[in-house]
Amino acid sequence: AMRELREKSCKKREIFKYSNTRKAAICAEHVFDFSLGNPSIPAPKVFTDKLLSLIESMSPEALHGYTSGPGDMEVRKKISDYMNKKYGINSVPELIYMTCGAAASLTVSLTALVKEGDEVITLAPFFPEYTVFVEKTGAKLKPVMVRTSDFQLDTEAFRASVNENTKAVIINSPNNPTGAVLNEESVKALASVLKEKEEEFGHPIYILSDEPYRELVYDTEAPFIMNYYDDTVVLYSFSKSLSVPGERIGYIMVSPKIKEAKDLFFAVCGAGRALGYVCAPALFQYAVSDCLGVTSDISVYKKNRDLLTSALTEYGYEVVKPDGAFYLFVKALEDDAEQFCETAKKYELLLVPSNSFGCTGFVRISYCVSTEQIEKSLPSFRKLKEEYDGR
Ligand code: PLP
Repeated sequence: AMRELREKSCKKREIFKYSNTRKAAICAEHVFDFSLGNPSIPAPKVFTDKLLSLIESMSPEALHGYTSGPGDMEVRKKISDYMNKKYGINSVPELIYMTCGAAASLTVSLTALVKEGDEVITLAPFFPEYTVFVEKTGAKLKPVMVRTSDFQLDTEAFRASVNENTKAVIINSPNNPTGAVLNEESVKALASVLKEKEEEFGHPIYILSDEPYRELVYDTEAPFIMNYYDDTVVLYSFSKSLSVPGERIGYIMVSPKIKEAKDLFFAVCGAGRALGYVCAPALFQYAVSDCLGVTSDISVYKKNRDLLTSALTEYGYEVVKPDGAFYLFVKALEDDAEQFCETAKKYELLLVPSNSFGCTGFVRISYCVSTEQIEKSLPSFRKLKEEYDGR
């Protein structure tokens, strides 16, 4: 089964291979690869300075040693203090578990919470790995489409999808692949449906809030889910905010407002142990704990977003201006998004079809690339539109 999983269609890998072949065939700068989610701006200097000073100042045993399973207590305390100040919550270090990025935060919390026969809802379009992570526990992932006009909650569709087997709801705002930030109206509606259903079914339904893009928000504020719904577990990663996806560092934060918070946290510890995720990379635990609230220079992403959104809109593409992350989700110019991506390749544009994200008819454009790449690619986007206009 695991071998099958390795081979199971991975669109991103396919595009990556094509991109490399194409870059080797023609000059790399003429291939406009918009398929990746790798932060393109460097980690902030305070972060790299911190790393260097830790390496120079710490004793070798402390520097390269294990921390406790859930992570260093001082680190967890700093995270808790920072979050309490920033969001006015009452988190405690005893309910924070350091992990290897959002991926591990997801697998650990899902393993802690769900079992065979349970259902986990997510809002589609969604990060494709959710399917793998949820199915691994024996539970079933149930996607519910958001409204495609603005990528906000379709409250009635959501309500209809919750039943007595619903154990958790994974939400991801700012969102991969749409770039949408769930607004306060959506978050309140989501919380109110879940509260109603918790009462109806007599058991908790947890929100797993996957937040690797929390800080990547432009001209607006993202509502902090824990402030709207008690049964919330925050899954965080420093991959995108600090541009350090290769360092594998993040955390799980169990809300103190969960009735059985301590029990749930113990289950998280057990799941972390079972999956072999105890003691997240120690050096990076220390480094991030002194860079809370710091981000890479995200003004580059905002500039890219503005440039791309206005150009594509001008050419006649249907675009919802995204409020966050570094993705633009654009209506494909024909019903079959995969076919549309094939046509885009003629203009050296590498886009990801929305089928990979559980919906049809759109493409994802990652704008975590250089502004120069975007500028150079614009004539290709224009020609692609003109080809469809001429059909
Ligand atoms: N969740 C979402 C929505 C993502 O887009 C990603 C990475 O792209 C992850 C989780 C995994 O992030 P990490 O590198 O922290 O494991």
